[in-house]
Amino acid sequence: MKDYPNTQLFIDGIWRDAIDGRTLAVIDPSTEDEIGHVAHAGRADLDAALEATARGFAIWRKVPAFERSKMLRDAASRLRAQADAIGAVMSAEQGKPVNQAVTELMGAADMTDWYAEEARRTYGQIIPARREGVLSYTVKDPVGPVVTFTPWNFPVSQIVKKMAAALAAGCSIIVKAPEETPAAPALMIRCFAEAGFPAGVIGLVYGDPAEISSYLIPHPTIAKISFTGSTVVGKHLAGLAGQHMKRATMELGGHGPAIITADADIDAAVSDLATFKFRNAGQICVSPTRFLVETPAYDTFLNGFTDYARSLKIGAGHEPGVDMGPLANERRITALESMVKDAEDRGARVVTGGRRIGNKGFFFEPTVLADVPVEASIMNEEPFGPIAIVNRFSDLGDAIAEANRLRYGLGAYAYAKDGLAQQRLRDEVQSGMVTINHLGMALPETPFGGIGDSGYGSEGGSYALESYLITRFVTQLH
Ligand code: NAD
Repeated sequence: MKDYPNTQLFIDGIWRDAIDGRTLAVIDPSTEDEIGHVAHAGRADLDAALEATARGFAIWRKVPAFERSKMLRDAASRLRAQADAIGAVMSAEQGKPVNQAVTELMGAADMTDWYAEEARRTYGQIIPARREGVLSYTVKDPVGPVVTFTPWNFPVSQIVKKMAAALAAGCSIIVKAPEETPAAPALMIRCFAEAGFPAGVIGLVYGDPAEISSYLIPHPTIAKISFTGSTVVGKHLAGLAGQHMKRATMELGGHGPAIITADADIDAAVSDLATFKFRNAGQICVSPTRFLVETPAYDTFLNGFTDYARSLKIGAGHEPGVDMGPLANERRITALESMVKDAEDRGARVVTGGRRIGNKGFFFEPTVLADVPVEASIMNEEPFGPIAIVNRFSDLGDAIAEANRLRYGLGAYAYAKDGLAQQRLRDEVQSGMVTINHLGMALPETPFGGIGDSGYGSEGGSYALESYLITRFVTQLH
């Protein structure tokens, strides 16, 4: 992309380079060309960010919720106005088609508006006292300065769902944004800064993720962490948070089961699930991955799904009409190639795709694997790429058992018409979120979160603010 912006740190209300001038290269995943760079924070930058966030918190916690709400709504409007420009930048650094990037930005603006409204509803509670003249009540206070670590798959919305909640609650926040996709988050944060958030309330840093998390999480200034990323890193950071008694929200990996019964509307199931599977080239934590189809509907579903996968137009995100861009980085190519080979070696059928496309840019074919044995690595590890596993079942209990076999429990999908089957799917599939006969997850007003190895805590919905608030109890005799 022409005019791809280099990215600076945002500390204490000022955009600036790292003190030691260090930078990291940014790569366009569709060409593998270096398109720019991002500042790499060192210890002195982090110390400055910590001091600023402490000062920012002292100011922001006293700003009335009504004013916080207005500022968030202003940021949301600025984000909407900038959506096309930021979307083009996001597409260049992340790979997704421009229209999907713009959709992400519009969704992030809606999310900001949702939290702007929730800011005004952080109600306490009056508790009936045991004695005349006593007033007992709870007060909701912001937990304190937050640090958040977010990944490259949704560079903006992953930040906004944490940052807008923290700001609504009255917390300051340091965002450690993804180094691979740094410019779109920075442009988004510029919209917030222009809405008038006081200096220090929002900080933005990039650098070595492990170095930053191991310094910031234990630091006494930080009260809470929120992480989105892989389960292995999440467990490490949750351990660190636990050791230092910091609040934590963990939004980790998944291995979405999708159960389709023989009586389901198969056309709707194919259309909804295939579209969602290949969105963002499958790099979505709630991407459906293990498709379990009842035998009488198996061939129809598999053929429909495969036709859709073959029809996709693959290319750079800025090309008109592109449905799926490249993967975000080379690590995904290596991981997917090895998972496909392992599945084939164990007897799975590659119905379509399975290979890298060309040798320039991180493009991978939309892939459908069938009859994949349960021992295959892809049945157990999150592929985080454009690969669907389509297996068959003849007993609903077996399909539910397979859905529940892994320790992941994030997004689950089901298509069924029979009422009893719907009830079993609703009640027995162990997952943080279940969507039946349509796709209805990940809206600002609905809770988003997992169980087991998929993490803990809820983002989105009326629950999301709770994790940025502390409940204090006061009892007073007049
Ligand atoms: P990774 O495990 O190296 O990194 C995942 C994310 O965690 C990245 O944003 C990275 O910057 C960050 N990270 C890594 N080590 C860290 C540390 N010590 N402290 C703080 N942050 C740290 O994996 P990756 O190759 O970038 O992504 C691949 C895997 O990550 C996928 O297979 C998927 O499971 C997971 N992932 C999940 C999501 C999600 O939305 N839940 C998003 C991106 C990646």
